[in-house]
Amino acid sequence: MSRFLSQRLQALDEYVPGEQPRDQQYIKLNTNESPYPASDGVVAAIDAAQVRDLRLYCDPDCKALVQALADRYGVGTENVFVSNGSDDILNFAFMGFFGPDRPVQFPAVSYGFYEVYANLYGVAYEKTPMNRDFSIDPARYRNAGKNIVLANPNAQTGIALPLREIEEIVRTNPDHVVLIDEAYVDFGCESAVGLTRRYPNLLVAQTFSKSRSMAGARLGYAIADAGLIADLNKIKYSTNPYNINRLTQVAGVAALADGSYYRENCQKIQRTRSVTRAALEELGFFVTDSSANFLLAGRGPVEGGALYLALKERGILVRHFSEPLISDYVRITIGTPEQMECLILAIRDILKEATR
Ligand code: PMP
Repeated sequence: MSRFLSQRLQALDEYVPGEQPRDQQYIKLNTNESPYPASDGVVAAIDAAQVRDLRLYCDPDCKALVQALADRYGVGTENVFVSNGSDDILNFAFMGFFGPDRPVQFPAVSYGFYEVYANLYGVAYEKTPMNRDFSIDPARYRNAGKNIVLANPNAQTGIALPLREIEEIVRTNPDHVVLIDEAYVDFGCESAVGLTRRYPNLLVAQTFSKSRSMAGARLGYAIADAGLIADLNKIKYSTNPYNINRLTQVAGVAALADGSYYRENCQKIQRTRSVTRAALEELGFFVTDSSANFLLAGRGPVEGGALYLALKERGILVRHFSEPLISDYVRITIGTPEQMECLILAIRDILKEATR
């Protein structure tokens, strides 16, 4: 119990990020980072002069970055909002668009932060049941009469909904915000960005953290109708106008100029994903049909929690979630082919020792 924290916040279960160990070198497959470095263009863009200029505040409107994103997606600058990671967009959406009398619905298994933000802001929410294979039943979201948050591909499972299903959900909830969280969209899923021209209630969030190898820079963005973008700006200018630091703004513009490097990395990751999935299935695990840079594997010869621990002992970090629906699973980020070979060898070794 804190003496000072408000009663309301004392009861809050905060988000627990994946482990970021500093003590030993792991093969780190636990927080869906890219195994490939930021592009040469990004490295070159951050020079000593940029570092010296840190004495100056950054551009609160992030004009160069917003323009580069608008060019990349063929939308106007009034349709783009940039943020300190896409977590910021989720934060602002839960703060601004949802509330005790503005309920929101999201899948029972998804990004854990949705529930944390809902509790933080006292938002009424429904965790919508899913099919046994963790796919989402789109019918549960059509004509919902509520705000909706869907990660596509979905978090923890990597399973994607086709764009026509997303459009139906957006179309049949015209008076509610539909937030499509596309953190993993570049690994083989159709983006809803093109729909934002037609649907003023659609907010699409993306990030530089995964496909653009910039998790440590904290850069996310939203594309939407000018009305929703103006709302997000109102919240930003009421909390922290300088929320994207100078170096990150420069790095973001440079990353957008290196699109082909990042696209190639995504293709490599997709190829490694399918090899890894096949190997895990051969070892007796159920593996989700993921369109993201991770796989959810479970119901295998070793229980999820035990597998996580045994891998950690062997220097490989994956993610285990204690929530009951997926506690028999581990989520494995797709690394380089060599890293995934080490993973499969380690799992073989673990299975030899412990067959349940
Ligand atoms: N959405 C989803 C579904 C995620 O998995 C993550 C990363 N944990 C985020 C958003 C936030 O990513 P970032 O703030 O790094 O952009």
